[in-house]
Amino acid sequence: MEILRVENLKKYYGPVKAVDGISFSLEKGMVFSLLGPNGAGKTTTVEILEGLRKKDEGTIYYFGVRMDFPNREVKRKMGICLQKSAFFENLTVLETLKLYRTLYGNGMDVEEVVKLFELEGLEKRRVKTLSGGQFQRLAVAVAFVNDPEIVFLDEPTTGLDPQARRHIWEIVETFKRRGKTIFLTTHYMEEAERLSDHVCIMDHGRIIAEGSPRALVESSGLKSIVEFDCENELHVEGTLEKKDNHYVVETNEPETLIKDLLRNWNVSNIVIRKPNLEDVFLKLTGRELRE
Ligand code: ATP
Repeated sequence: MEILRVENLKKYYGPVKAVDGISFSLEKGMVFSLLGPNGAGKTTTVEILEGLRKKDEGTIYYFGVRMDFPNREVKRKMGICLQKSAFFENLTVLETLKLYRTLYGNGMDVEEVVKLFELEGLEKRRVKTLSGGQFQRLAVAVAFVNDPEIVFLDEPTTGLDPQARRHIWEIVETFKRRGKTIFLTTHYMEEAERLSDHVCIMDHGRIIAEGSPRALVESSGLKSIVEFDCENELHVEGTLEKKDNHYVVETNEPETLIKDLLRNWNVSNIVIRKPNLEDVFLKLTGRELRE
């Protein structure tokens, strides 16, 4: 069942083509990820779909019905976690959850939400006293409290420590198992790789590649990746990234490359590994996701 379809969506800010003719669709129960570096157009896309910004062109179908903006019925089936959530800071965690649940009229049992999002013990804490990770768990919890069919999570784990990030991943997986559809934007490749059924890589307002994480890696043509450190300024064919003295190089013949490097240069910390989504991204855009 198709939950959302977008055709030729465009949004320009003067000369800036923030979203420049993108199309995709989401089936029920899938995790769909929009990946891209800063300024690629992810947030603009998500906010148009959430009904928070106006598109310039394009067609959107919510649950099979063409609409310029999500109507009240669609909004009731949507959950939203904005990139920067703001809550009433003097309300407690429980009051915040209850408030959002009341706004929607129906939804999940608040006690269950507290348990699922591991907010036990924090119910009576005022929002302003929460740590970054606790606040973000609440922000994601609020996106689910109305028991939505589709949840938009705009960079839900940015700035979180690895443990808090992993917890949010588990929550996303739990809801996916319950048949919910997740629309995710992220800077983190390992997050997209672990969670997504379908990834769209966005750059300069356009989708430059899409598919399952595995299909994207397979179709990239990347064979092996060699990483190493070297103090010298090298020009190695297939270099995907060079940061300070650390090199990431794609190659079909890792052994030959390493022998060659060792013979001629003082290299250290050599690693051979399989290519991942981040390498695909670097190859396609020449840029890093995180800045
Ligand atoms: P980030 O990862 O940094 O959130 P993003 O992929 O979400 O980036 P957007 O925030 O959608 O990117 O921005 C896309 C482009 O549109 C950027 O060049 C941005 O500067 C520009 N832009 C976004 N909002 C506005 C606005 N209200 N007015 C003018 N330009 C805007």
